[in-house]
Amino acid sequence: MTDFDLVVIGAGPGGYVAAIRASQLGMKVACIEKEKTLGGTCLNIGCIPSKALLNSSEKFIELSQHAKEHGIQVNKVEIDLLKLMQRKEKIIKQLTTGIGFLFKKNKITHISGTASFDDQNTISVSSSDEDKKITAKNFIIATGSKPIEIPSIPVDEKQIVTSTGALSLESIPKSLLVIGGGYIGLEMGSVWARLGSKVTVVEALDRIVPTMDAEIVKEFLKSLKKQGLEFKLSHKVTSTKLNKNDVEVSMESSDKKEIKEKYEIVLMSVGRKPNTEGLNLESVGIKFTGKNTIEINKEFKTSVDNIYAIGDVTLGPMLAHKAEEEAVACVEIINGQKTHVNYNLIPAIVYTDPEVASVGKTEEQLKESKVEYKVGKFPFMANGRALTTSTTDGFVKILADKKTDAILGAHIIGHDAGQLIAEIVTAMEFGGSAEDIARICHAHPTTSEAVKEAALSVDGRAIHI
Ligand SMILES: Cc1cc2nc3c(=O)[nH]c(=O)nc-3n(C[C@H](O)[C@H](O)[C@H](O)COP(=O)(O)OP(=O)(O)OC[C@H]3O[C@@H](n4cnc5c(N)ncnc54)[C@H](O)[C@@H]3O)c2cc1C
Repeated sequence: MTDFDLVVIGAGPGGYVAAIRASQLGMKVACIEKEKTLGGTCLNIGCIPSKALLNSSEKFIELSQHAKEHGIQVNKVEIDLLKLMQRKEKIIKQLTTGIGFLFKKNKITHISGTASFDDQNTISVSSSDEDKKITAKNFIIATGSKPIEIPSIPVDEKQIVTSTGALSLESIPKSLLVIGGGYIGLEMGSVWARLGSKVTVVEALDRIVPTMDAEIVKEFLKSLKKQGLEFKLSHKVTSTKLNKNDVEVSMESSDKKEIKEKYEIVLMSVGRKPNTEGLNLESVGIKFTGKNTIEINKEFKTSVDNIYAIGDVTLGPMLAHKAEEEAVACVEIINGQKTHVNYNLIPAIVYTDPEVASVGKTEEQLKESKVEYKVGKFPFMANGRALTTSTTDGFVKILADKKTDAILGAHIIGHDAGQLIAEIVTAMEFGGSAEDIARICHAHPTTSEAVKEAALSVDGRAIHI
């Protein structure tokens, strides 16, 4: 007899979703979380707070820069950073306490503390109050990830911060250096640039967001530059020195030229690594791929029979919705059901303005794998709704198989790209073709008509261009 049918370690979008699904399926389930609040990185220091700040800063730009063109006279637009941060905290609190209610509703035992394996059926949970041992038939490791740090750039979360520090700065820095041109760095850079910081992004590669379609990224870079962000591509930060009021940063270009610059705040945003330390995984026989990533098979099972892993601790894109899909599939597999996650159809979105959204293959990937394809594109400049909302930057790009017309990939840069991509993901999940989207009636005037027009354009039949 064990205490629980299933114990989930970590209450992020992977862990809490797994616990809820397991309870729905009739399992006796516990979820262990070492932080005071539930919801993991996503709700506390990731997706949600970053989107709250993106929205507040976007409203500031709308009022301070764009109200006039609508004939609206706004005399003074000022930022109250404390109130802006309080709004963000309120949203976090609402969502994280909401997970607590869901746990109660689903009769999930919430155990506070840090988990570590004793053997494959027993874990120790230590907290400031007590240490206890818990046994279970099955375990799911959903301990997430944390920012990668580099010894030559020591983070103090004051002058050199990770995304966690960048979400809670106490004043608007005059200058901010973002190390890393990935989606987290660009989102946080956008927030502070809109609020008034001079933002520079340094990236070792010759392009930003390297996983995305190159044509979209070119447009994205142009747009971010237009908003005042500066880029040092093909540059590496070699060292940092903390002064009283700034950080001295040494950088080296790919042709070995050295530069030194000073910034008030430096944001270290070069990626994240799985959270596996302290779990005592090696001693129970769990294997890793690479340094910290837990090795799993197609059924999310680790090298130990009753221990599973999902979300950021495993391979694949570190995204909340990937963790959630894996959570449901993993629990259903434990329950004896047949299910899977379609890894080709996990949308990726950068929530800047314009947003960038993509799903499936990029044009570069299709070329590399020698797949014959057709391209359909449509600019928001030719979309009536985008004109009425002054959001004409960007375009929709659909890649379809040359012979079968099946959609192979879609890439959108535009104000509401993140919402628009959902239609294409749905079509792709059902094996849809560009023709299928082209034949669907889209409401007028909406930006979704740009998706339809891009689908028509795959066959050279776009109407409004
Ligand atoms: C700034 C930022 C913005 C982001 N924006 C987005 C976005 O817009 N969209 C998106 O899809 N993704 C976004 N992400 C990524 C997203 O947050 C993660 O992919 C997601 O949270 C992963 O979920 P998870 O359940 O695997 O892990 P996590 O959410 O990291 O949760 C893991 C939990 O396990 C707990 N834990 C760890 N070790 C132990 C232990 N030994 N015992 C007990 N508990 C433990 C941790 O405290 C944590 O609460 C963002 C991330 C950041 C940092």
